[in-house]
Amino acid sequence: VGGHPKPQDGPMRIPGVRQVIAIASGKGGVGKSTVSSNLAVALVRAGHKVGLLDGDIHGPSQPRMMGATQRPASPDGKSIIPLRAHGVTLMSIGLMLAEDKAVVWRGPMLMGALQQMMGQVQWDYHDGELDYLIVDLPPGTGDVQLTLCTKAVVAGAIVVSTPQDVALLDARKALDMFATMKTPVLGLIENMSLFHCPNCGHEAQIFGHGGVAAEAGRLGLPFLGALPIDLETRVSGDSGTPVALGEGTMARAFSDLAAQVVT
Ligand code: ADP
Repeated sequence: VGGHPKPQDGPMRIPGVRQVIAIASGKGGVGKSTVSSNLAVALVRAGHKVGLLDGDIHGPSQPRMMGATQRPASPDGKSIIPLRAHGVTLMSIGLMLAEDKAVVWRGPMLMGALQQMMGQVQWDYHDGELDYLIVDLPPGTGDVQLTLCTKAVVAGAIVVSTPQDVALLDARKALDMFATMKTPVLGLIENMSLFHCPNCGHEAQIFGHGGVAAEAGRLGLPFLGALPIDLETRVSGDSGTPVALGEGTMARAFSDLAAQVVT
């Protein structure tokens, strides 16, 4: 009696989802959410059925980045119908709250919210079973990461870092956490790697360059690519139309990333 999972319950498959891919980072502000939304869009463009779960419960950015603001419906008061944005099935705690309201919750509530988004959202509502569910994790190595990796079967994690030493240091902790939880790591991405000045063509290494590839090499993990600092990426993220929807260099970079995740 009682459907509540016990602590010893092993990981379960998220209903309506074939493979979960977690996007993680050690530090905040390195571009984890940007990579998540653009990877989701790039996978849709490659013909896959894709969902995006915004697991950053304290700082949900996917409603803004994906341009979705409607509150998801729950006709039976229990299951939740996810939104659809740019061909991606989307759920974020941010859709249930006003944008400027803080989520002031302790660990157990966080875990409850995440488990609801994993178990009560009808992920297969729009497209049938999803090929990939991209989970945009909060930065660091906290309760949400633990809950996801112990309660759900995660096919793999991607760790995003800037080349800066402080970011890399924290990225190593995230990698260590996945190793402890036996979650496979698909690879590392270096974001904000270079800045090409659009006026003079000069290339500046604002946060350094090459550190993430070197780290991946050291750990024997795949290096999935370096993304430059790009104004259009930031602007399109802020306006809810991910840059991966377009045809430029960044869209190609995200399409390359999607191809590496699929194979
Ligand atoms: P995180 O999820 O790691 O906190 P975000 O994806 O929210 O990071 O990115 C932080 C800010 O940096 C956002 O305003 C985003 O638009 C911007 N940003 C991320 N990646 C890039 C990039 N490659 N070029 C320019 N701006 C970027």
